[in-house]
Parts: sequence; C-alpha cells; structure tokens
Amino acid sequence: MLTEIDVAIIGAGVIGLATAHEIAQGKKQVFVFEKNRTFGLETSSRNSEVIHAGIYYPRDSLKARLCVEGKTLLYDLCDRHDIRYKKCGKLIVAADENEIRWLEELHEQGTKNGVDDLVLLSRTEAKKLEPRIEARAGLLSPSSGILDSHGLLSFLHSQAREKGVQFVFGTEVIGIERAGAKYKVHIRDRDGVSAFVAHIVVNCAGLNSDRIAQLAGIDITESSYELHYCKGEYFSLDSKYRNLMARLIYPTPEQAGHGIHWRQALDGRVLLGPSAYYVETVDYSVDETHKEYFHSSAKRFLPFVELEDLAPESAGIRPKLQGPDDGFRDFVITDEERVGLPGLINLIGIESPGLTAALAIARFVGRMTS
Ligand SMILES: Cc1cc2nc3c(=O)[nH]c(=O)nc-3n(C[C@H](O)[C@H](O)[C@H](O)COP(=O)(O)OP(=O)(O)OC[C@H]3O[C@@H](n4cnc5c(N)ncnc54)[C@H](O)[C@@H]3O)c2cc1C
Repeated sequence: MLTEIDVAIIGAGVIGLATAHEIAQGKKQVFVFEKNRTFGLETSSRNSEVIHAGIYYPRDSLKARLCVEGKTLLYDLCDRHDIRYKKCGKLIVAADENEIRWLEELHEQGTKNGVDDLVLLSRTEAKKLEPRIEARAGLLSPSSGILDSHGLLSFLHSQAREKGVQFVFGTEVIGIERAGAKYKVHIRDRDGVSAFVAHIVVNCAGLNSDRIAQLAGIDITESSYELHYCKGEYFSLDSKYRNLMARLIYPTPEQAGHGIHWRQALDGRVLLGPSAYYVETVDYSVDETHKEYFHSSAKRFLPFVELEDLAPESAGIRPKLQGPDDGFRDFVITDEERVGLPGLINLIGIESPGLTAALAIARFVGRMTS
C-alpha cells in the first residue's frame, strides 16, 4: 500500500515514459500511474511515427525548440540503443503558385528554428528526387525520418524500470487535493478507491490532461487549458505501392494538421494520412466513406494512386489546445506555482511534434523537478 512518494507521473504514453526515465536519473522515488493495462495504448501508438525536423512551428515556441532538440536527442538515443529508425528525409510539395509561397515561408521559418539543412527545389529538381510525384516546387528536409515508436516506448519503459521507476497499470487518477506542501492523489483500481501523498505530480495524461488539471482545482476555462479533440485517420495502400518513393511526401500544411502525406512505415506498409477534423469523443474507428477525400487529396501530388487501392487502416486523436477557429497554440508545460499549486506540473496540448520532442520535453520537466 502506497503512503508517500516523491513523484507521481500520470500517464504512460511517450511523454510519461520519457519523463519517468529522465527524472529517475536522480534518487527520487518515481511512480507512473496508467489507467490502461500497459503503456502506450493511446496517442503514442496512434500517430505517423515521423521524426519531424522542426519546420512548422513559430520561432522560439516550445514546439519549435523542443522539436529541434528532441530530434537530435532521439536520433542519438536510437543509435546508441538500436531502436529502429530511418532518416529517409521528407519532401513537401507545392501543387500551385500559392503553395510555392507557403513553401518559401516554411523554408524561412524552419531555418529560423535552427533547421539548417532545408533546400528549396524547382519542379525539375523535385521530380529528379522523386520522379513519380506531381509538383510545382518542393522543400526538402533531409533530417526528417521514420521511427519505430513501439521500440522507443518499450525501451523507455524497460530503462525506467531498471532505474527503479514503479509502474502501476490499470489505475486511474480520479482526484488531486493540496495537502500542506504536498498533494493527496486519489486513485481507482480493480480493488477500489485509495489515496497516497506525492511531493510532485506530473500530469502527462494526454487526451485527459485538461481534466486532470481541473481535478487539481485549476479553472481550465480561465487558463485556456480546455482541449479540443482532432481526429486523424489513415488509409493503407496496396502492397504494389511499396518502395515507389524514397522519402516521406507531404503536401503544404492544413489549418489543423500537417496534411495527408505518403509514408512508408519501417515494416514496408505504405500509408496515407492523417486527416484532421474535430470530434467530440474518442472513437478510433475509420470512416470508410472518407476514402474518396483521401484519394483526391493524395491525387493532387501523387497522380498514380488509384481509389480501389486504399483500405481503412487506423486513427489517432490529437489533444489540441487550438480550436477550429483559433490560431497557433503552443504546448503548455508549466509548474502551477502561479495559481498556488507548486509542484503540480501540467503538460497539456502535447500534440504533434510530441513524439519527436519527447526526450527534450522530459529534460524540460526534469529541470522543473530537480
Ligand atoms: C494522428 C496523429 C499523428 C501524429 N503524428 C506524429 C508524428 O508523426 N510525429 C510526432 O512527433 N508526433 C506525432 N503526433 C503526436 C504524438 O503522437 C503525441 O504528441 C504523443 O504521442 C503524446 O504522448 P502523450 O504521452 O502525451 O499521450 P498519450 O500517448 O495519449 O498518453 C497519455 C496516457 O495517459 C493515460 N491517462 C489519461 N488519463 C489518466 C488518468 N486519469 N489516470 C491514469 N492514466 C491516465 C492514458 O491512458 C494514456 O496512456 C501525432 C498525433 C496524432 C493524433
């Protein structure tokens, strides 16, 4: 029976795992509470597995800084521990004049963010690299890649355990109260409801992170912490499409996502996606009627893709702070000292590039807890 611990991390997605792995470098007693039966069953295993370069986010935003830092940390970790990845590079294509301007803006923004290897390409240069695409121009990002996200999650979990982190699966955090300088955390597992005391609580609860903040007494409307769910579906392509392209192929970004792109996973499967549309509830089914939309989106820059070769694959949900009519919103990663809750660290809105940035986010949180 738990009574008092140093750090309680809520959520065993990539962010909770990376944070546990980082914090456990010290001598703290760290516990991770996860409502599911094991780690990584939600957004962390329902994404594109792309290692992003850091192009899309405004200069000096946490998204930009932590993506660029996280990418380097991630490649290095993968090299040192044999976690599979492929630095295949990515080509963003412009289908018309307007989109060429977008590419130029992305190039400028990415360069300001410290992505120093971006190359603007003419139509001829882009087609020389990827002869099958249709494009007016391209932006090449050589440092983008594909990751074995399950390999990363398993590595972080096993390393954190070796460092003494305790994982408590099948246990949902249902309440958080201030108790002197500490927190009383209420949990529910199959034996019922109980509570323990933690000095530091780190909220890595993904799609539930706004509700966890609310449980701790934060006014999430006033703090602008309310999450919007934005679904992304994937369709797979027939195996005859394997190895047709060497790189990730992206269109210019949409309002809520990076656009429906072409990706060959490490196991060879070719996928189109993700789409981006706001939903009210978490439902991971793929709507087959969206097939035509996927086909027409892809057809603009991948003219050889045939409708009958698409099959529904999987879906993920982005925990977005940005609502349908809002502008850019950054990650929230903050110690809630300003609202009288020091030692409560909230991570809210950890959407893309959260997977890429995970190790840098963990370092950022680690500095807050030391
Ligand atoms: C469609 C899509 C594509 C994406 N593509 C990319 C990409 O290519 N590259 C990239 O860098 N990023 C990408 N992302 C973003 C990336 O997947 C996320 O940023 C990252 O996985 C977030 O991890 P997390 O640990 O915060 O969340 P999660 O993986 O959702 O983990 C949160 C955990 O908290 C647990 N939890 C919640 N409430 C409680 C509670 N009350 N008690 C106990 N446990 C609780 C949940 O069960 C869950 O396991 C994509 C996201 C989506 C949706």
